[in-house]
Amino acid sequence: MSEVRCLNCLKRFEVQSNAKEATCPNCKTKYRISWPTPTQAKIRGPA
Ligand SMILES: [Zn+2]
Repeated sequence: MSEVRCLNCLKRFEVQSNAKEATCPNCKTKYRISWPTPTQAKIRGPA
């Protein structure tokens, strides 16, 4: 699990480990996720 900050509403939310996509629970925006390290998720852009 790792946290990312939504680029749309700026709320932080958790991403499941190794997930390739994640949806912000606050604004429902879907993102593509990359993992620079196994424990650090990063938003790549809109899915
Ligand atoms: Zn959001």
